[in-house]
Amino acid sequence: MEAIGNYINGEVVAPASGAFLDNVDPATGQVYGKIPDSDERDIERAVAAARDAFPVWSTTPAAERTKIMLRIADLLEKNLDAFAQAECVDNGKPLSLARSVDIPRAVANTRFFGTAITHFASEAHAMDDQAINYTLRNPRGVVGTISPWNLPLYLFTWKVAPAIATGNTVVAKPSEITPMTAFMYGAVCKSAGLPPGVLNIVHGLGAKTGAALVAHQDVPTISFTGGTVTGRSIAGTTAPMFKKVSLEMGGKNPNIVFADAAIDQALSGSVRASFANQGQICLCGSRLFVEESVYDVFVDMFVGMAKKLKVGDPLAKDSDQGAVVSKAHLEKIRGYVALAKEEGGEILCGGQSPQLINDRCKDGFYFEPTVIAGLDASCRVNQEEIFGPVVSIIPFKDEDEVIAYANGTDYGLSASVWTQDITRAHRVAARLQSGTVWVNTWLLRDLRVPFGGMKSSGVGREGGLEALRFFTEPKNVCVKL
Ligand code: NAD
Repeated sequence: MEAIGNYINGEVVAPASGAFLDNVDPATGQVYGKIPDSDERDIERAVAAARDAFPVWSTTPAAERTKIMLRIADLLEKNLDAFAQAECVDNGKPLSLARSVDIPRAVANTRFFGTAITHFASEAHAMDDQAINYTLRNPRGVVGTISPWNLPLYLFTWKVAPAIATGNTVVAKPSEITPMTAFMYGAVCKSAGLPPGVLNIVHGLGAKTGAALVAHQDVPTISFTGGTVTGRSIAGTTAPMFKKVSLEMGGKNPNIVFADAAIDQALSGSVRASFANQGQICLCGSRLFVEESVYDVFVDMFVGMAKKLKVGDPLAKDSDQGAVVSKAHLEKIRGYVALAKEEGGEILCGGQSPQLINDRCKDGFYFEPTVIAGLDASCRVNQEEIFGPVVSIIPFKDEDEVIAYANGTDYGLSASVWTQDITRAHRVAARLQSGTVWVNTWLLRDLRVPFGGMKSSGVGREGGLEALRFFTEPKNVCVKL
């Protein structure tokens, strides 16, 4: 059984404790590897390597950093199949999804931020003929990145790429549930010539390894993506230390279908928004609001499409849905479906694990695409993040009512609006409390746009210039003329 190591100062090393955690393949439910159970000693070692690498890396010309990052992207692309296979086994997502979305996006993140740095400009402010101000944007030092399991390499590179592009050095803590592609990325960075210590990857549990990184006094910048409860704990540690923190957290996103929508487009988009990656995307539209006049027809067709999705072995070409990420997560999803029944919901389809998929998958963690109707917008199932293949459908009368529903949660990450009325689209988009609003689409991502959430979904923005600004420290220089 393969045991992976931490990647510190350009070398793969065992954890200081000598202890390892099990890595489980969700498709089979079997342990298939071991990952370091790192603690504060490993974090200390990684931070020291990052601190030592910072003076040279931060003064390496941007064009040189770009060259190395492009080599990393090329190597990753060349090994796309191996990375996609590893992501599929680690996470349970369909291999086809890892091949078409996760790994290509990790390549794109690396390439985009690797080149973005050469286009990054700062501001100048002339004060008539008295003075000129200009802004310097310097790297901040050692950055700590913490990423989740749902889009493992995609979100790992979303943070690591802009952080190193801007001249910082990094200690990265991938999710302990899906460590494999981050481990492989370390090897690619080494082959591409990234100097030792620029990127260090420490594996382990959130409450131990992650918490030690967050609390380290020599890590002034933390970029986190994960659950809101974890984000709150990170905010609690970092606020009195005055760290610069970006928090990308949970969502309970509204997906709003008006009667004047192009119904076929709204249907296929809503099915994707509900069930892609087994519903384990922070941006999934887990609350589906449908205007009353088309509600019955829409629900019939939507349920028909959900029933056709094939839950199967993630390695099989014809599987639309793979396994959910862990046994604990499967139990959480089951718990919410039971709660939906208690709260008066009607299960229109799914609601359980599928029949045996094949012998290999008999102990895996599978759940059918599930559609629930009849729940009040304020009940727990419609307020709390489930993060699985479960969607709740709610009818609405008019624009005011649906905006009140949509905004009536603690979250504010993303929303989709389906309508052919362009005026309505802009009006509704402006009123939604949401970091991103999609009109007649879902999960169409441009790496240049600000990305993040409002309310309990996030603090700050990443993506494009926002990321380059987040990972740099602005300094104004005022020159008297
Ligand atoms: P999680 O919060 O449990 O874990 C995320 C990461 O934080 C992991 O690496 C984990 O080890 C680490 N961690 C856990 N406790 C920690 C602590 N006390 N200190 C430091 N680090 C700690 O989240 P998850 O279950 O891995 O991911 C699912 C969640 O992520 C969902 O809520 C989802 O909505 C959210 N998410 C948000 C976005 C976004 O962009 N807003 C994207 C993807 C996922």
